[in-house]
Amino acid sequence: MSVAAQQPPQDAAVLELLHRYRFERPVHVTRPTMPSREDYQRSLARLWETGWLTNDGEFHQELGAGLARYLGVEHVSLCCNGTVALLIALHAFRITSGEVITTPFTFPATIHALYWNRIRPVFCDIDEKTFNLDPQRIEALIGPDTRAILPVHVFGHPCDVEAIQAIADKHGLHVIYDAAHAMGVRYGDASVLEHGDCSILSFHATKLFSTIEGGAIVSRSEVQRKRIDYLKNFGIEDEETVIGPGINGKMNEFQAAFGLLQLEMIEQEITRRRRLTEIYREGLRAVPGLRIQEDMPGVRHNYAYFPVLVDPERYGRSRDELHALLRQFNVHSRKYFHPLCSHYPFYSALPSAGRENLPVAERVAERVLCLPLYGTLGEDAVEGICAILAGLRSKPGEARA
Ligand SMILES: *Cc1c(COP(=O)(O)O)cnc(C)c1O
Repeated sequence: MSVAAQQPPQDAAVLELLHRYRFERPVHVTRPTMPSREDYQRSLARLWETGWLTNDGEFHQELGAGLARYLGVEHVSLCCNGTVALLIALHAFRITSGEVITTPFTFPATIHALYWNRIRPVFCDIDEKTFNLDPQRIEALIGPDTRAILPVHVFGHPCDVEAIQAIADKHGLHVIYDAAHAMGVRYGDASVLEHGDCSILSFHATKLFSTIEGGAIVSRSEVQRKRIDYLKNFGIEDEETVIGPGINGKMNEFQAAFGLLQLEMIEQEITRRRRLTEIYREGLRAVPGLRIQEDMPGVRHNYAYFPVLVDPERYGRSRDELHALLRQFNVHSRKYFHPLCSHYPFYSALPSAGRENLPVAERVAERVLCLPLYGTLGEDAVEGICAILAGLRSKPGEARA
């Protein structure tokens, strides 16, 4: 049986589109930004020279300082990845029991970090526009066991940081931000990472800025930074003092050296992604049934992702149908974040996980689709994807195969 025969029957319009716009080679949802190999080899030569491979080496120190400068923050602790950064951040504020209010619309690591710290996640519904925690729904979830709020700046769009802080202050709660998507995002005239008790970043290869695997904690004081730095190194303060039950969460020199080269490229990467985002917006704004995110006032965005919401009635196709069709065009979109974390079998029995408590998150998770976006993606490729999305809209009343 031929490949074509295995595929579902197509209407003539789709076949025509496939003929015109199908990509020869797969277009993935993201591709890592790569520094020049020669530059990285120079860093490697230095490592062979010094033999200092990890434990606060020169690349580690340089990257910590470089990131603080770039972000405009004071206290940066580098970590081996974003998930361990989250575990350490919770420990640093002694959030190791009780409940933490968080969002179901996130990457699994956010919720798993709570579970690994023996904390019960309490799922709170999200805002339809930003996909972030809806502050108006937080207070009703606060109980005697609530210790903290763990919001996520989803797709790099800042949370309502003032409203969240006001609630936290009123009830004496910590706020730990999962800012894995928010590298380089500024809100007003400061980094968005300067809110809450601390923020964690992820530098995974699929993120805007990468150290292959990696992460960081941005904290708000010297005392906090020191505690975090001890905790990521087994709690060791000096040769004879261990201040607490730490973990091995250190970033090594190979990661830090990679990150230093990435730091030289990040502004150019953001500029390219902004240009591609503008092309997507121009191409999709007028397509009925697709909703896109626009820039927020007072925010310097990082254009890390390009999500669209598919309204099945107005677009004439469901998100799942569109996702599968795009694959036939060799365009690999991702259903970020579907399913919701509250649907995972080990969390679904929590009282807050019920579908009726999370109507907005449920709807967004059913409709969201992230389209390909990375600096080396061509402008013509984005124009092609827009043409495909516009063409695939199935207009009501028109015959469909
Ligand atoms: C990627 C990601 C993480 C985990 O980061 P790693 O560096 O991969 O461990 C945590 N939270 C969110 C929202 C993420 O997207």
